[in-house]
Amino acid sequence: MPERGMTEKANLFVKKGTWIINIVLLVCHIYFVILFKFYNADILFWFNCGSVAIYLLSFELLRRKKAGTYIYLVFLEIYAFMIVSIICLGWEFGFQHYCIAFIASLCFSDFYMNGSRTANRVSLLLGVFNASIYIALRFWTQYHPYVYQIDNTLVKDGMYVMNTLLGFSFLIMYFSIYSKTVNKLEEELRQMAERDALTGLYNRRKMMELLGAEMDSVENKNLVVAMLDVDLFKRVNDTYGHVAGDEVLKRLADTLQEHAKDKEDFYVCRWGGEEFFILYHYKDTKATVMEEFERIRQEIQQQEIPYEEELIKMTITIGLSFYQKGMSLNDLLKEADALLYKGKEAGRNCVRCSE
Ligand code: GH3
Ligand code: MG
Ligand code: MG
Repeated sequence: MPERGMTEKANLFVKKGTWIINIVLLVCHIYFVILFKFYNADILFWFNCGSVAIYLLSFELLRRKKAGTYIYLVFLEIYAFMIVSIICLGWEFGFQHYCIAFIASLCFSDFYMNGSRTANRVSLLLGVFNASIYIALRFWTQYHPYVYQIDNTLVKDGMYVMNTLLGFSFLIMYFSIYSKTVNKLEEELRQMAERDALTGLYNRRKMMELLGAEMDSVENKNLVVAMLDVDLFKRVNDTYGHVAGDEVLKRLADTLQEHAKDKEDFYVCRWGGEEFFILYHYKDTKATVMEEFERIRQEIQQQEIPYEEELIKMTITIGLSFYQKGMSLNDLLKEADALLYKGKEAGRNCVRCSE
């Protein structure tokens, strides 16, 4: 079970790359364990043994999708490791660059704190804390002898390069994961803004946008709009229940979408309730378009929608309005509506077209 509280966003944040990062950090600490054993640097040796244990444990956290605990644990480990290493070895090994990764992570604290109101304040406080630690360590190393002296230039420079690369890699990683996550969420939001939740079809808002663009274009001569309404749908709800009604609407949406699949410029939307709307930029003649909509009506009529023990049937009435020169969007919609109404009056289950 994913952890509660730290929710989806943190889980998104801690996905694929994390396993690789965890392996890299584990390997680094194993290297440090060997190195510090070699130099008899006991504090650092034992500290790194603890870090190895933490990164081994982290695999289990990742497996269990405990994103929140993982993030906190790794932050704490890196931070503690940085402080201890700087006090023991000094400034020349580049451990201070992990502060950079820490600062980057602060920029996103309201992101993994789920936009809580205190998140910004927490970020600010931690930022000040981080800067204070950085300055304190800088001065500490200036005025205190290091606990261990490692003078081998190769080891020193190698560690400097390694720490700097890791510190900056964290920075890049944060920004890239963050931007990917934001893009993903943005896409989800966009889908939510333009799609109907029940059927997955475009909603009325999106359709109005498409219609607007279509009316503005010069080539809108072969434009037809269709207003579709399920006949006596209230009865379906009353007889089989609302859930069954929803199933019927979904099935109708799927059928209409099927027709859109092999056509260009055939857009279906749920206009609202049990009303659907189609915008079609047709290529053939008006007569062919009318036949097509007649076929759709017949297909719907023949369907039997299984629901529990029942087979539900439905019919639809369609008002079809062909664009004519000088018509406004409003004229087009009004006409389709009026034709639908006429169809209902004439006994339903039919297609009514403009002249
Ligand atoms: P008509 O042939 O004249 O269109 O009759 P009708 O019963 O279809 O029309 P009416 O407007 O009286 O009823 C529409 C019903 O559609 C009423 C409403 O409860 C139902 N409805 C609207 N949206 C939904 C929905 O999302 N799910 C379900 N199950 N029912 C819905
Ligand atoms: Mg109806
Ligand atoms: Mg209706």
